[in-house]
Amino acid sequence: MDYLRKKIGIVGGGQLGKMMILEAKRLGLYTVVLDPVADCSAASICDELIVADLNKDEGYIELAGKVDVITYEWENINANALLELEEQGHKVYPSAKALKVIQNKYDQNTALLEAGIPVPRFAAVKTEDDIREYGKKDRYGYPLILKTTGGGYDGKGVALIRDEDSVGEAFASLGGGVKDLMVEEFVDFDKEISVIVCQTVGGDRAVYPIAENLHTNSILDTTIVPARIKGIVDAQALRIADKIAEVFGCVGTFCVELFVTKSGNVLVNEIAPRPHNSGHYTIEGCFANQFENHVRAVIGLPLGNVDLRQPTVMVNLLGGSDCPAFLNGLNEAYGDTNICVHVHSYGKASSKAGRKMGHYTVLDKTIDGALDKADKLKKTLYFN
Ligand code: ADP
Repeated sequence: MDYLRKKIGIVGGGQLGKMMILEAKRLGLYTVVLDPVADCSAASICDELIVADLNKDEGYIELAGKVDVITYEWENINANALLELEEQGHKVYPSAKALKVIQNKYDQNTALLEAGIPVPRFAAVKTEDDIREYGKKDRYGYPLILKTTGGGYDGKGVALIRDEDSVGEAFASLGGGVKDLMVEEFVDFDKEISVIVCQTVGGDRAVYPIAENLHTNSILDTTIVPARIKGIVDAQALRIADKIAEVFGCVGTFCVELFVTKSGNVLVNEIAPRPHNSGHYTIEGCFANQFENHVRAVIGLPLGNVDLRQPTVMVNLLGGSDCPAFLNGLNEAYGDTNICVHVHSYGKASSKAGRKMGHYTVLDKTIDGALDKADKLKKTLYFN
């Protein structure tokens, strides 16, 4: 079949789905989005939109009937519906089988551990007493990390427990007793980094330059590439990312988030089986970006060059308050021709405090130069 006649189905019409479509459209491909919201970010540019509940099966069945391949921009979706479609012979990339394991942090960590990939120590917990047991000095000790096994994002679903007295509050805040929870040893990390990988159906792999990520309140704030890490850390991270691609067999783009410990060891925090916010730097920073390669992989084309054009810094633009969306400072940012900045606005009608509204990317000859310029823009370029 002519590659360019293929129809791609995308579960989720947020900014990541929209960015996939922009690349699919460059190749003239037909796109169908499944999202619960009629005016989602991708609605303005997809060819067809199916508005349906992502927890039910119907929307997925309708989507499968319209497209040649299904992919997704988000992992907290109905993996069982996708598994069923996969078993019927529909193409789902990354596979629904991999999604099912990855979307549960306990199962994900177990699979990583079994494959010999380093993760923080972790355990399933059901009660406050279970948590207290792991808080003991001879177990993981305090501080201790408590997580929901599914459904988390941007730090929602993660609680830091400082001492035994805070166990009850953390347990209640994450829905203990109702939701499945796990504890993780607290990693006193030096840096958080991520690796974006893309894999074809045939197993060819492209690994992007490692990104250094700075978070504020567990939400990604800034990505710096190349990461300011030692070569030995770089090599460990790349080896881990490669092994994960092999173990899960993910087709398309996925992201591995990692901790670099103070002693220079690398541990996996989590995998996202999709293009990732920390890979947005690739849009202008690399020759072929994470979305372009994702689209190429899922329709069966070879991957593009993932080399970095120049040192790159990406800064997220979050909503400041609950109000109609308004981006300040665009005129000034584009008016300063000394700064090579690319601004992305996701087209969301309303701002909410902390909501991802857009991002900007600065390229420069040096990392320090890119960081300086990106920092300067923070003062003028922001969403209300
Ligand atoms: P989410 O999927 O919501 O982003 P993460 O598991 O990535 O959740 O956790 C959010 C943040 O919490 C991480 O970026 C990191 O800063 C912190 N964190 C998570 N797990 C640990 C851990 N085991 N030790 C120390 N910090 C952690």
